Amino acid sequence: MRRELRSLLQETPSGRSVLEIVPEEFGLRGIRVLALDFDGVLAPHGGDQPLPDVEAWLRQMVAVCGAERVFILSNRPEGPRVAWFHEHLPGVRFISEVRKKPYCDGLAKTGQLASVPLSAILMVDDRLLTGCLAAICAGSTPWYVRAPFVDLRNNFHKELFFMLLRWGERLFVRVLP
Ligand SMILES: [Mg+2]
Repeated sequence: MRRELRSLLQETPSGRSVLEIVPEEFGLRGIRVLALDFDGVLAPHGGDQPLPDVEAWLRQMVAVCGAERVFILSNRPEGPRVAWFHEHLPGVRFISEVRKKPYCDGLAKTGQLASVPLSAILMVDDRLLTGCLAAICAGSTPWYVRAPFVDLRNNFHKELFFMLLRWGERLFVRVLP
């Protein structure tokens, strides 16, 4: 587990965001389903809806892969963000009523709902020790978003807290024995 996390960190370019995932990722690595974290990955922390660029990217993924293959696996699957998807990208499902990441329960539920093995899921997350760890534990493929979306102007303290948390995670993963 430690080794996998460390190689994931080493192999991930520092500017990587969700927008770099192209539909061709599917199939090539046996990936058939996307499980997307929300905060930091689709929008800055606590956002109500994906950023405009991300919305365009989501529409492209849904058009190519089908909405039934795209899931939101956030530790906060509630509030206006759920309503936004319901209205704008119906068919994309939120995973809820499961133990939070890094437990694998959300990925297990994703696999059940999509009728695919866990190895066919790409878990996209900006946190090494929650989503990426869950993916490694579950036998899914982690996609580490190393350049998450942040909104320092409107949410300085909270974003700073999460920036420190992510930095601490990277340090922790690097120094693990
Ligand atoms: Mg996140």
